[in-house]
Amino acid sequence: TDDILKNVVSHAKEYGFVFPSSEIYDGLSAVYDYGQLGSELKNNIKTYWWKSMVQLNENIVGIDSAIFMHPKIWKASGHVDGFNDPMIDNKDSKKRYRADQLIEDKITRYERDGKTDKAAQLQNDLDQAIKDDDLGRLKAIIEDHGIVCPISGTKNWTDVRQFNLMFSTKMGATAEGAEDVYLRPETAQGIFVNFLNVQKSGRMRIPFGIAQIGKAFRNEVIARQFIMRMREFEQMEMQFFVRPGTEMEWYEKWKAARLKWHLALGSNSERYRFHDHVKPAHYANAAVDIEFDFPFGFKEVEGIHSRTDFDLKQHQEFSGKKMQFFDPEINQSYIPYVIETSIGLDRMFLTVLCNAFEEQDLSTEDKKDSRTVLHIHPALAPVKAAILPLTKKDGLPEKARELMDELKLDFNIQYDEKDSIGKRYRRQDAIGTPICITIDHQTLEDNTVTLRHRDSMEQERVKLDDINGILQKTTGW
Ligand code: ATP
Repeated sequence: TDDILKNVVSHAKEYGFVFPSSEIYDGLSAVYDYGQLGSELKNNIKTYWWKSMVQLNENIVGIDSAIFMHPKIWKASGHVDGFNDPMIDNKDSKKRYRADQLIEDKITRYERDGKTDKAAQLQNDLDQAIKDDDLGRLKAIIEDHGIVCPISGTKNWTDVRQFNLMFSTKMGATAEGAEDVYLRPETAQGIFVNFLNVQKSGRMRIPFGIAQIGKAFRNEVIARQFIMRMREFEQMEMQFFVRPGTEMEWYEKWKAARLKWHLALGSNSERYRFHDHVKPAHYANAAVDIEFDFPFGFKEVEGIHSRTDFDLKQHQEFSGKKMQFFDPEINQSYIPYVIETSIGLDRMFLTVLCNAFEEQDLSTEDKKDSRTVLHIHPALAPVKAAILPLTKKDGLPEKARELMDELKLDFNIQYDEKDSIGKRYRRQDAIGTPICITIDHQTLEDNTVTLRHRDSMEQERVKLDDINGILQKTTGW
């Protein structure tokens, strides 16, 4: 199964989806660049999220707050003191790990070996240790289960210590006047500190939500599994402000709505599951993850958290500004409670690739054949259609260009006249293009073309005039 991830990673690079950052300088750990197709796919995922959260919900609006924020914000939010991961070093390899991840990997191995009781027991122990903030217990678990360093293969571990994940830098021109600022580790705080601005300027009434897509930065203890755990990544977060006492109702609603959003892409529902947190983060009273069955096991893609009034209350205290809403329906002022939905754009991207990637055997009795195809949902596909003149002569390229010039106003289209038509179909399959349009000699006579469908590989003859409509229908939301 790790091979599947390897194949996805190399496919993503070969076709221009994801490149390691600074590659000609041997890369920068856990930082990646999105290529020409990756950035299209990423934009389409953002659009899918933005449309379904902001456009389809009259009581949710979107903002775009700055990455730099007043440093006091991170004191108030608890990140300066509490945004830590438990880390442990192996004394032989000198490699550093996250203690909880080493244990989670062991759980995955128990699950794979069919030792479900052992896996469940270990999950319980881990949850309990995290709940109690018991670093000694984490170390004991690692020792009891004989967990070895993946590099050195030894059990020679240091004690478990806390490690703060925030990046900091200096703001200001002169060294004396410079102030320490942080790169935001989550986009949520930009929403909380703008709560009143948006509420007043947008005349919002509770319940309402504020959404945002943007970069976040975390100095992850260990980088691994491709774009799963990056040091610079993107989040799509929505904070939903509700009347105190109604938060659990909204928590359940958003939990269901968010799973539905994932499944609406046509993905296999068995690859998704909920994982409840026994110990929600310092700001929450309930939390659940939506997990996806990655090639390396079920892992979090999205978190839904009931954040109570923790953040707004902290900001009220630290800023000295009232963070209250006057609710005309009950004639009362209060600090709203908050339900958060928080999804990693890059992890979402990886689920799309993992769901879509297939190495398909097309062999018949007398001929061996195969193709690599990305069954990406047509609305997310980076290229919506490819226009392929059958030959490079007889006026076919000109006819194809005419169609290209019309369609490119509405869709991201590729034009390709190199190599045999079969090879060109395979190239489009490999990048997930749902439709290929072939212009041949008959097109010049009767204005019909061959449409070839990615998933079924079926072909049909359609009128040129119908193509725009067909593309709207196939690739629209
Ligand atoms: P994990 O336990 O995997 O570190 P988390 O619980 O710290 O994740 P949250 O703080 O809930 O994550 O962040 C919300 C979402 O942001 C996650 O569901 C994930 O999709 C994404 N995310 C968090 N950290 C990273 C990262 N280092 N790289 C990519 N995406 C991330």
